[in-house]
Amino acid sequence: MSGGVRIALLLPDLLGTYGDRGNVLVLEQRLAWRGIPSETVTVLSSAPEVPESCDVYLLGGGEDVAQTAAMRVLSRSPGLQRAAARGVPVLGICGGLQLLGTEFTTGDGVRHEGLGLVDAVTEPAGERAIGEVTANSVLAGVGMLTGFENHLGRTRLGAGSVPLGRVTRGTGNGHERAEGAVRGHVVCTYLHGPILARNPALGGLLLEWAMGAPLQPIAEPEELAALRVERTRVRARNPK
Ligand code: GLN
Repeated sequence: MSGGVRIALLLPDLLGTYGDRGNVLVLEQRLAWRGIPSETVTVLSSAPEVPESCDVYLLGGGEDVAQTAAMRVLSRSPGLQRAAARGVPVLGICGGLQLLGTEFTTGDGVRHEGLGLVDAVTEPAGERAIGEVTANSVLAGVGMLTGFENHLGRTRLGAGSVPLGRVTRGTGNGHERAEGAVRGHVVCTYLHGPILARNPALGGLLLEWAMGAPLQPIAEPEELAALRVERTRVRARNPK
């Protein structure tokens, strides 16, 4: 990682609903506050190949057609799969979650094979799940997650993955109150927000995995202010 942390933003021309691209800005800024250089590698769907040498990979959400097109690109050039097999962290959101699973069926009833980085099967439901979500994360130190969801698919996890969290409000995966999926350093979620702006601890964990070193606590007024604003929002949503 001599040239700094390499952040791969995958297929933002296909995947990236509700400002998911903001997750990259959050990672860049948190590194910059610590004086750690970073380089963002934006991989468009027209790129000849997906690089496998990045330190963290991000995929946003997408409509069914865009998601299926993204799946075709990623299965053609297995840079993401190779990096994930080495333990490089991956964050997949919504449509990104679905295509990182083993299979997904789109709203038109067509079944598609996924990349299989998490053990998850998605099928369409009768109605979209739309709205605010809160969930308690199973990842150490991450705590409560909040975000916004808008999806038709419902996702059932197999034995090879654990949920990212347990839903306390909203739908999430739509089965067993699970939200998202985790397998090793591959983290998938239905939460937009962008999720790493609304949940700084999750972004911190991804950066620690990316760097293989703890993220040093520093005096970061902006970061702490963002956290305070988010906690205020959470309390407002869960009055008691
Ligand atoms: N196309 C998927 C669904 O509707 C994912 C949607 C999204 O990424 N917002 O379930």
